[in-house]
Amino acid sequence: MKNSKNILYYTFGKGAIKNLGAILNEKKSKNNYVIYYIDEYFKENELLDVLPLQQEDEIFFVQTKDEPKTQFINQFRDILVQKNKNNPKAIVAIGGGATLDTGKAVANLLTNPGNAEDYQGWDLVKNPAIYKIGIPTISGTGAEASRTCVMTNEKTGLKLGMNSDYTLYDQLILDPNLTKTVPRDQYFYTGVDTYIHSFESLNGKYRNAIGDAYARQAIALCREVFLSDDMMSDENREKLMIASYFGGCAIANSFVGVVHPFSAGLSVVLDTHHCIGNCITMNAMEEFYPKEYEEFFTMAQKQGITIPKGIASHLTQEEYKKLYDATIIHEKPLINALGNDFKEKLTFEKVTEIFQRM
Ligand code: NAD
Ligand code: ZN
Repeated sequence: MKNSKNILYYTFGKGAIKNLGAILNEKKSKNNYVIYYIDEYFKENELLDVLPLQQEDEIFFVQTKDEPKTQFINQFRDILVQKNKNNPKAIVAIGGGATLDTGKAVANLLTNPGNAEDYQGWDLVKNPAIYKIGIPTISGTGAEASRTCVMTNEKTGLKLGMNSDYTLYDQLILDPNLTKTVPRDQYFYTGVDTYIHSFESLNGKYRNAIGDAYARQAIALCREVFLSDDMMSDENREKLMIASYFGGCAIANSFVGVVHPFSAGLSVVLDTHHCIGNCITMNAMEEFYPKEYEEFFTMAQKQGITIPKGIASHLTQEEYKKLYDATIIHEKPLINALGNDFKEKLTFEKVTEIFQRM
């Protein structure tokens, strides 16, 4: 039986980010400096004026064109070591999934020897991480609540996080004011990540009552948000922030299904970002999830969002082979969704045909 850890502290509400100073003040530690990882979108933003910055703090802006790579995490660690700033009072990450995952990975690496790629897997992190605070600025991935931080090792092509209890944030600040400026398309693509992984886990065979309860509530909130007239109203941005958090908790207790492995294939072979990749995958998911397929496209239509189509329709045999390998490698979710004989159901021809239909 699993022994599960949750986020210990969170503060939620409009303007909650103003609590950051007080939270940092309460934290006692040998050193006083704080390391910030902030989504590059906020580089010249008024958000910076709200932060309780001190002279000896360091700010790094995280690019989001590429999703996190193990090499980026190692570089961030190296900079801190060179500056003799590798034992901060706290790491604070402010941004989307990419930035939140960067903060988690660096916090683990600062207290553990070796490189980021040494910890891709389950429970490989040996020492507790640096104390860390996560502040999401876009809702949906659940990265704020999960025990992993997704990174790609470019040398091996492995896209896998440091799954560990030490990866969980110590403190979250959930401030729905911060998601006001997200572009509408991105808001939808990222937001439905929580809808997708929640229905994947509810349709799987490895279930448990806690995961189910979180997933059901995340789905109910997503319906309220995406079937309403304006998914980005004040009230809906609050709801989606909670749906994302619940979705992250759901996945910590269960597994995803067919969508995420195919989306991971797109990501590894065609560099498609995670959330838009899930949406593109949905184009071909009617046979696996008929009810959710219909509801998903109703939501997109209601919000006036176009889901891209055709990115994998005309590829070479070699590319389809790579896509097949990068999809089928995700055994746990595929067994969860399709059973132990999933490889008989997802033959190379079948997988190719699914990618062509996206
Ligand atoms: P992201 O971090 O990739 O950011 C998406 C875009 O939104 C970027 O251009 C960013 O600059 C912009 N943005 C973010 N906040 C904004 C704001 N308030 N206003 C304007 N623009 C804003 O977004 P994401 O979709 O949240 O995260 C995807 C990443 O999360 C991937 O790297 C994926 O692997 C990872 N992920 C992690 C987990 C986990 O459990 N750790 C789960 C799912 C996905
Ligand atoms: Zn996801």
